Amino acid sequence: MNVSDQAPVIEISGLSRKFGQKLALNQVSLKIPRGRVFGLVGGNGAGKTTLIKHILGLLKAESGSVRVFGFDPVTDPVAVLSRIGYLSENRDLPPWMRVDELLRYTQAFYPKWDPAYAEELRAQFGLDPAAKIKNLSRGENAKAGLLLALAFRPELLLLDEPSSGLDPLVRRDILEAIIRTVADEGRTVLFSSHLLEEVERVADDLAMVFAGEVVLTGTLDDIKDAHHRLILHFESPPSIAPKVPGVLSLTGSGREWTAICNGRRPEVLAGVVRAGGRIVAEAPASLEEIFVARAGTKATGKE
Ligand code: ATP
Repeated sequence: MNVSDQAPVIEISGLSRKFGQKLALNQVSLKIPRGRVFGLVGGNGAGKTTLIKHILGLLKAESGSVRVFGFDPVTDPVAVLSRIGYLSENRDLPPWMRVDELLRYTQAFYPKWDPAYAEELRAQFGLDPAAKIKNLSRGENAKAGLLLALAFRPELLLLDEPSSGLDPLVRRDILEAIIRTVADEGRTVLFSSHLLEEVERVADDLAMVFAGEVVLTGTLDDIKDAHHRLILHFESPPSIAPKVPGVLSLTGSGREWTAICNGRRPEVLAGVVRAGGRIVAEAPASLEEIFVARAGTKATGKE
């Protein structure tokens, strides 16, 4: 492997973006390595689409920098966009076209379009070539958009909320298969989602975005290894959540409380004992619990 293989596909440093008074991105820095599935996680309005628009060069960095394949997507759009398969959140496909016409039309823009692969995906997605786009269901429409993004075998697949509109079964089967296939071929996938279970199933790496800031990033394995859910028992029920250093969130009532913490076990254990409690059970935290806890500490400025 030479050095260019190891260079990140996307490198974002200190990127900030304001819309009027609204700070949509605040000092975002991310490196997305080649050959990985990278999940961008965040709730509505977190800044995911704004970040993706910077990667596509649709928005120019107000401060900080964005490099994709080593290029600035604003000044070098051809070098960047010709290598990206993009599925937008609202997938604006021409409603009057038939599926087969849409494939032929899109093929014309991509020298590397693979007609056999396009046909394989069309059959796999169960899309009728004679169907008009405007008559497709939401799920079929999403699949048609995904097909267009995939059929020229892009080096980078950029999916903005790809599964909204797909029913759970289709979402599970198709999304996983596609994301895995692309990553296994040494290609790179970046997808945004607010469905944490889905990210947990398919992402190698992730970044959690909350109110325009990356609150946590790393490999899925490291993030999951570092966080735990503890069930705490208090003989005398505390009226408010006790403050325990090292705990990201503490919820519950009466004698039983649930803590989400980030390593620091001896410190947490000592804090729990000081607060009059004990740990009665311990388990890995789900990504959703980690996100909620991280977002909470960010919102309250506790960490
Ligand atoms: P969602 O999951 O709801 O699509 P998101 O994480 O993609 O959310 P963004 O669309 O990036 O979030 O929006 C981030 C913030 O920036 C939001 O508060 C949004 O209202 C604001 N915003 C985004 N685009 C614009 C714009 N063109 N003009 C004004 N405000 C904008």
